[in-house]
Amino acid sequence: MTRDSRYDILFEPIRIGPVTARNRFYQVPHCNGMGYRDVSALATMRGMKAEGGWGVVCTEMVELHAASDVAPYVELRNWDDQDIPTLACIAEKIHEHKSLAGLELCHSGYTAANLYSRETPIAPMAMSTSTYHFDPVHARAMDRQDIKDLRRTHRAAALRGRKAGYDLIYVYAGHGLGIFQQFLSRATNDRTDEYGGSLENRARLLREVIEDTKDAVGDTCAVPVRIAMSEFLGGEGLEPAEVEDAIAMMAELPDLWDLSLSAWPKDSQTSRFSEEGFQEPYIKGVKKLTSKPVVGVGRYTSPDAMVRVIRQGIMDMIGAARPSIADPYLPKKIEEGRLDDIRECIGCNICVTGDYTKTPLRCTQNPSMGEEWRKGWHPERIRAKARDAQVLIIGAGPAGLEAGRALGQRGYQVTIADRAREAGGRVARECRLPGLAAWGRVRDWRLLQIGKMANVSLYLESDLTADTALEFGADHIVCATGATWRRDGAGHHQYLPLPVAAAADVLTPDDIMAGGRPKSREAIVFDDDHYYMASVLCELLVKESIKVTYVTPAAVAAAYTVNTMEQKLIQGRLLELGVTVVTAQALSEVTAQGLVTSCIYTGKEHRHTAGSVVLVTSRKGDDALYRELKGRDAKVTAVGDAWAPAAIAHAVYAGRRFAEEFDEKPRDVLETPFRRELLTLMGG
Ligand code: ADP
Ligand code: SF4
Repeated sequence: MTRDSRYDILFEPIRIGPVTARNRFYQVPHCNGMGYRDVSALATMRGMKAEGGWGVVCTEMVELHAASDVAPYVELRNWDDQDIPTLACIAEKIHEHKSLAGLELCHSGYTAANLYSRETPIAPMAMSTSTYHFDPVHARAMDRQDIKDLRRTHRAAALRGRKAGYDLIYVYAGHGLGIFQQFLSRATNDRTDEYGGSLENRARLLREVIEDTKDAVGDTCAVPVRIAMSEFLGGEGLEPAEVEDAIAMMAELPDLWDLSLSAWPKDSQTSRFSEEGFQEPYIKGVKKLTSKPVVGVGRYTSPDAMVRVIRQGIMDMIGAARPSIADPYLPKKIEEGRLDDIRECIGCNICVTGDYTKTPLRCTQNPSMGEEWRKGWHPERIRAKARDAQVLIIGAGPAGLEAGRALGQRGYQVTIADRAREAGGRVARECRLPGLAAWGRVRDWRLLQIGKMANVSLYLESDLTADTALEFGADHIVCATGATWRRDGAGHHQYLPLPVAAAADVLTPDDIMAGGRPKSREAIVFDDDHYYMASVLCELLVKESIKVTYVTPAAVAAAYTVNTMEQKLIQGRLLELGVTVVTAQALSEVTAQGLVTSCIYTGKEHRHTAGSVVLVTSRKGDDALYRELKGRDAKVTAVGDAWAPAAIAHAVYAGRRFAEEFDEKPRDVLETPFRRELLTLMGG
């Protein structure tokens, strides 16, 4: 197939200062939780983006000096010459596929507490550091010597970046993380010298560093500026009008303007809270200010939307982090006219949890993300079957569909059976809940791929028992039978079942997703799961005019969603909806009148009255069929939630893993199941 001429514009080469990108697909810098610790894995992941057609592929924010150390977060380092080989191996992987390599140099100012280096943090003014753990560390106000030193360190880091082979060397003023934004913003700059006060003064350091960087490397490298268009501080910080004034003052200085929102949670909004293209209102005024290429983001996965924003003069290059994670091959698929093969990002931010939990990034849609080097997985390819075999998969949820798809791609004969009337398992049910519609893409993409394979068949409304499964006569049976929400109160806080009165009206998320509703107009939603489910059910019930009280043992609502950067939005939404939010209460008992809880600090008992209770606590794998088949010596494996309930991303990964390892020699338990980076000991 060839591409539709409508999309030709996306494949035009774009000149960026002294270098030229082969097309308009621009993988903007994004964190990944691998950084200096998992360099080979990171390099292979970036190389995969280049292989998939992204004309520019950037690193994450890279620490440019030991005094800008964001430990415990794991980013790349460019502190001194010893880091050049690490940086170079990433650029090499990107160059192997003729893409340009971008290096985002970062001095984090007051957002680096320097916990590892123990250097004193510096910032435009004396202030607390801003870290996720409220470290008791302050930043010192920079004096003139500090400013000179910062310019020198940035210049030296830029020169190392060029030596390492990068084509674009960034000046970073975004996400509240880049110190040049901190100077630019009135919210973090109270200086009275020539670097504070007027916009011209606040922009002075940014201008100087752009000039320094151009002077140092600008003959061979492009110098983009990544800048925050808004800080959402209600006029006390940066707003688009002032940032546009700043851009106008320096319009032609950098080689490219890369636009974003600040802080990171505003930039990488989830599909629950924003649509594709949500940044357009903030960035649309910039292109008329400059002749330099403008890059913007907004979770674009549709080529028509990409063409539109270029034709409307909103941006020149399509910036993407998440769409490039969910589908490193997105550009290639557009180029080859294979639009329905695009694995669209669902906007869930499981990828972001990697950085927040300091572990390699994961993706719900793309189970190979982060495994390209560790396990040799490819987002598009998989090795052919080793022999003929027929596999029966019971359950068409994310685990079963991915296992079936990947086994089908390998060439095996696959039958997927599900008792439900529609495929998708939990995804089919959950994508009907408020704000989660885009999650249906997990099912849709897999169904579409399976539909193209003659060797994979899907039978719905097929409730299998051990007998019927064995009668089928497959060489191997996969139980991807999912999990069930518990109705006994056991969860993250209370591991054992709690007393639940027989007369109590108790519902679980499964009941509600199956159409069940509280008998009473007043319900308590008890959340000991801490992810999205309880808050989503609160929204659903409030929309149906039920008065809702949300109770949790955690200190905040939906505590895990700190890692998807949604926590504040979720708690804010609950409060706006009129939900009463009660925190720090552990469940003791469910009665016919409501809940008995105890304060997690004092143990003091509390009673919460409501006619109905929704328990969102934990799930139990539906593994009865697996255990029975195992007991009958069948060749059977349980995958996904049936094996151990987790997020959808885990189920997709489990399905892929089964398909990858299906015909491999069973691994000895003493063997580490993936490659890892090993340190070279420096001795001492
Ligand atoms: P996962 O997240 O692990 O993929 P899901 O709960 O999403 O799990 O999907 C499990 C699927 O398995 C559901 O669609 C359910 O209808 C199906 N299922 C469970 N038990 C059986 C069975 N005995 N026969 C057929 N389908 C089953
Ligand atoms: Fe998109 Fe979710 Fe994948 Fe992140 S994890 S790239 S948000 S699908």
